[in-house]
Amino acid sequence: MLRLLFPNLYVPSIYDIDLEYLRRQGIRGIIFDLDNTIVERGQLTWPQKLVTWMEGLKEAGFKVSIVSNNRRRAVGEMAKAYGIPAVFWAVKPRRKPFLKAMKLMGVSRRETAVVGDQILTDVVGGNRLGLFTILINPLPGKEFIGTTLFSRQLERLLLPRIRKRHGFSRRLGHDRR
Ligand SMILES: [Mg+2]
Repeated sequence: MLRLLFPNLYVPSIYDIDLEYLRRQGIRGIIFDLDNTIVERGQLTWPQKLVTWMEGLKEAGFKVSIVSNNRRRAVGEMAKAYGIPAVFWAVKPRRKPFLKAMKLMGVSRRETAVVGDQILTDVVGGNRLGLFTILINPLPGKEFIGTTLFSRQLERLLLPRIRKRHGFSRRLGHDRR
């Protein structure tokens, strides 16, 4: 159970993800969390830096998708407007939304990475399926109340251990199971 809480990689932000490293791990598809991972929670337009980076991912040959627990229709439509398949109201860490996203991208479990800012939803959800999990520091957006009360407390306890294992390293991910 405990190992479900630990990501394969821990980096400061999505922009610190080493794509060549992922490629060498056999990753072909990347599932992103939305709120406070790629945009601040509630933000409906994407900064140019994000748009450019997502385009770069696609040009580098990666498939991308978004899996979010957010229920707001506007948020789902926003992702689609940027041309990225998205699964909303996902109830992570349930397996189903991740499997749905993998199907949309046409990739297998061994080829899929999950990127998110929360251990209990993003990391645990990805680890349950044996996906390559990447934890990032949350963007400073306003949080869902349930997140602040429980998840962030747990993360405060776990982060020192995760940091000890990874530092903020782009390359020192532990090997996949
Ligand atoms: Mg999030």
